[in-house]
Amino acid sequence: MSDTSLMQIPGQVDPVTVPRAITPREDGRIDLIGVPRAQIAEIFAEASLDPKQAKLRAKQIYHWLYHRGVTDFEQMTDLGKAMRPWLAERFVLGRPEIVEAQISNDGTRKWLLKTTDGHEYEMVFIPDATRGTLCVSSQIGCTLNCTFCHTGTMRLVRNLTPGEIVGQVMLARDALGEWPKGRMDVPEGDDTEDENETGYTADGRLLTNIVMMGMGEPLYNFDNVRDALKLVMDGEGLALSKRRITLSTSGVVPLMQRCGEELGVNLAVSLHATNKVVRDEIVPINRKYGLHELLNACGEYPGASNSRRITFEYVMLKDKNDSDEDAHELVRLIEQYGLPAKVNLIPFNPWPGSVYECSTPERIKSFSGIVFDAGISAPIRTPRGRDIDAACGQLKTSAEKKSRAQLDREAAAEAEAAAEA
Ligand code: SAH
Ligand code: SF4
Repeated sequence: MSDTSLMQIPGQVDPVTVPRAITPREDGRIDLIGVPRAQIAEIFAEASLDPKQAKLRAKQIYHWLYHRGVTDFEQMTDLGKAMRPWLAERFVLGRPEIVEAQISNDGTRKWLLKTTDGHEYEMVFIPDATRGTLCVSSQIGCTLNCTFCHTGTMRLVRNLTPGEIVGQVMLARDALGEWPKGRMDVPEGDDTEDENETGYTADGRLLTNIVMMGMGEPLYNFDNVRDALKLVMDGEGLALSKRRITLSTSGVVPLMQRCGEELGVNLAVSLHATNKVVRDEIVPINRKYGLHELLNACGEYPGASNSRRITFEYVMLKDKNDSDEDAHELVRLIEQYGLPAKVNLIPFNPWPGSVYECSTPERIKSFSGIVFDAGISAPIRTPRGRDIDAACGQLKTSAEKKSRAQLDREAAAEAEAAAEA
C-alpha cells in the first residue's frame, strides 16, 4: 500500500493498529526518539558497530536524549569525535515540528504539531499553582464518536508512534527550559504515598504531571502508548513517577487490565452517564462494552486503592445527564461495585457545531453536592484554555470524519487498483 498514513482497516469492528513504530523520514535517517534502549543497541549493531560498542553507545546516547534533552550528536562530549558525524549521517534526535504555539489568557498553552509525514495533532500544557500538567495526544483523530467531543468528529488519521508520543513530553521540556533537572521517579519498591517521605520532590519543575487526555483513545493505541510511557517512567529515561501519570479511556474494557499491569498509571474513565440509554448515545463504545463490564473492570484495575482512586470523568450536559437522579445513581453505582473512586465534573466545553449546552452552574453545584454528601470527592473542574480551543474535548485538526461506507468504498477501490497494478 503506497499511502502509509492510513492506519484503519475498513470493515473491522475494532480499529486494527498497523505496527509502525518509527515514522519513516524522506532522508532515510532513523529517529531514535521513542526507541527503547535495547533496540537502540540493536539498530547500532545493524549499522555495523560491534555488539559491545553498540550497547555502550546506546547507554550513553540514551542518557543524553532523556536526561539532557540533547538534539545534536555534536553535543555528546563523551562520544569520540569521529563517532558523532557517523551517527548524524544515519540518525536524528527529532522533535515534533511546531506549526503553531498559542497561549491562553489563563496561561494554558497549546501547540499544533506536525509529524514528519505531514499530519497535524495537538498538545496542551496547563500550569497551576502547585503543578503543571501536560495533556498528551495518542492518536491523530479518533475512531470513536462521543457526541460531545470535537476530536470525535475527526476520522482516525493514524496512531501516533512512541517517538511522537514521548516527543510531546520532550518538546514541552524544551519549551519550558527544563533540561536537565534532578530525579522525578520514586525509588523502586517504595510504596509510600507521601512524596516527602520518599525524598522525592517535584524539584521546582513546571511540568510535573502527564495526562493521556489529548486527541485519541490511548487504549486503542496501547502498544505505542505503553512504549512511550515506559520511556517517560524509566529512571534512566525521563524518570517521571507513574503516580504522576493518568491515562483516560472512554472504556476500552479488554485493555484496562493490561494498562494497570504493564504501566501501573492512574486510570481515568470517561463515564459521563449512569444508564445504558444515555451512555449508548453519548459514548457509543458503551454499545460494545456496557456499564456493567466497565465498572467490573474498574473494580479489578490493578493498583487501584483508597489512596490511588479511579477518576470518573463526567461531562455536564444540560438536560442530558445532569439531574439529581443521575447524581444519586452515580453514587449508587460506585457503591454497588465497591469502587475506590473520585468524580471529576467537567463543564461541557462547546465547539463549532456542537449540539449540547453546558449545565447551569446551580445544576452542577447540586450534582456535585449529592456526590460529596455520599463521601465521594466530586470537584467541579475549572475550564482551562477555552479561548484558544485548548479545553477538554476542543482539540481537533483538519481531517474530516468519513462514514464507514465511504471508508469501505475507498478500501475496495484501493484493493482493486493494487490488484490491477
Ligand atoms: N479518549 C479518551 C481521552 C481523551 S478525552 C477519553 O475519551 O477518555 C479527555 C476527556 O475530555 C474525556 O473525559 C472526554 O470525555 C472529555 N471531553 C470530550 N469532549 C468534551 C467537551 N466538549 N467538554 C468537556 N469534556 C469533554
Ligand atoms: Fe475519542 Fe475520547 Fe473524544 Fe470519545 S471523548 S471521541 S474517545 S477522544
